[in-house]
Amino acid sequence: MLKKIKSSALTGAIGKSLLMPVLTTVAGGAVGALLVTTFLTGSDDAPVVTKVSITQPQETPETQTAENAEITAAAATEAEEASAEVSEKEAEVAVAAYVSPAAQNLNELTKTVSVSKGDTLMKVLTRAGADRTESYEAITALNEIFDPRSLKIGQDVTLYFGVDEARESNATAPSLIRVSLNEDVDRQLAAVRTPGEGFTAQETLLELDRKMVRAGGVIHSSLFLSAAQAGIPTKTIVDLIRIFSYDVDFQREIQPGDSFEVYFERFADENGRVLKDGAIHWASMTLSGKKISVYRFKTTDDGFTDYYDEKGRSVKKTLMRTPIDGARLTSGFGKRKHPTLGYTKMHRGVDFGARSGTPIMAAGNGTVEFAARNGTFGNYVRIRHNSEFKTAYAHMRKFAKGIRKGARVKQGQIIGYVGTTGRSTGPHLHYEVHRNNKQINPLSVKLPAGRKLGGKMLSAFRSYSEQIRQEIASVELETQLASIK
Ligand SMILES: [Zn+2]
Repeated sequence: MLKKIKSSALTGAIGKSLLMPVLTTVAGGAVGALLVTTFLTGSDDAPVVTKVSITQPQETPETQTAENAEITAAAATEAEEASAEVSEKEAEVAVAAYVSPAAQNLNELTKTVSVSKGDTLMKVLTRAGADRTESYEAITALNEIFDPRSLKIGQDVTLYFGVDEARESNATAPSLIRVSLNEDVDRQLAAVRTPGEGFTAQETLLELDRKMVRAGGVIHSSLFLSAAQAGIPTKTIVDLIRIFSYDVDFQREIQPGDSFEVYFERFADENGRVLKDGAIHWASMTLSGKKISVYRFKTTDDGFTDYYDEKGRSVKKTLMRTPIDGARLTSGFGKRKHPTLGYTKMHRGVDFGARSGTPIMAAGNGTVEFAARNGTFGNYVRIRHNSEFKTAYAHMRKFAKGIRKGARVKQGQIIGYVGTTGRSTGPHLHYEVHRNNKQINPLSVKLPAGRKLGGKMLSAFRSYSEQIRQEIASVELETQLASIK
């Protein structure tokens, strides 16, 4: 099935010796190359048309002769007919209008190859039949705008072959003329050959329409399920959970009847077809009647974007380095001579000497995953803060009321009291910070920091959040969203 392709991208500088997919006459009689950039849609919708945002070094285009114009027009018709017979996927790729004796059918001119596991761009290009040297040149050019590590399995790479007469006058096999891939639904990257000059990188950005969507609903069993049922895209749900994960224990705190709302970006093409979802600008959770709202806000002084609550506090909570008041550090992290065993041993935490009974606080919001006697650690508590961080507290005299496995604790909440249970020489708190289940030095590690806005930044945040509230109020709440595909 043939897709009708339209485009307005003018790159110019393509001489007669290099025949690009389709040539066209533009105002003033100059010749430009119509770069046919389509996106593989996998559906029957019209292909997306792009605008080229990067211009290459230009030569003065030659005037196109009438003869040339006729040839290319005829070739285009032939190509259209031929492409009607090739597979649907190939037909969705730009139609090459160049015909050479070596290229007997379109497949030899335009090839689309999917990236497989373990592929590199070089493997992909050579598999499609491109010459190694040419592939190398194209990849080198492409690497200026493309990170090879971002090559994804299943991603399509399209190759165009033709004859670059400046390069190989007696060539019988077509050369690699252009390599393109869609890095995102709105960003196509290409390496394009200029006759005799090699490849240049070219980035094509699709101008998508941004629309804000306000969606929400009541949570029946889990936020994830309810949000998915409301048609909210998975990526947005995951973002939503991540944003609230410092404040909400999604396993325990959700009660039937709680609700959520999310206000996020959607990008559509000119036909209104949704192509991707963007950032959450605002979200709220109402838990047992209490509403928490967060706003996405960029602090212009440091350029960071983060989510803040109504009072301008970052949702990211830092862990306390010293979860105890009035204590002194008695033993640092690292190798040391063990005080009771006498030999050198790695100390995987820090010790704070304090009077027995001194309260110990939770270093951050989290869930208690261990609160019991634990061998040489004595009375021991471990708190899971998020998927990355945990903290542990040892040698406690006793646990605070309500501290048991599964209990939800807030930063600064008292979880126990200093003691000398387990293998210990005297009353102290042995404190550990675990990152990805490995102990790290709490005194030197960079802990996830949350910012509290103040001064000018707080004023800016206040007027921004007010603006967002008004914006949201003017948008209808959707409880059943149409999904992308
Ligand atoms: Zn210790």
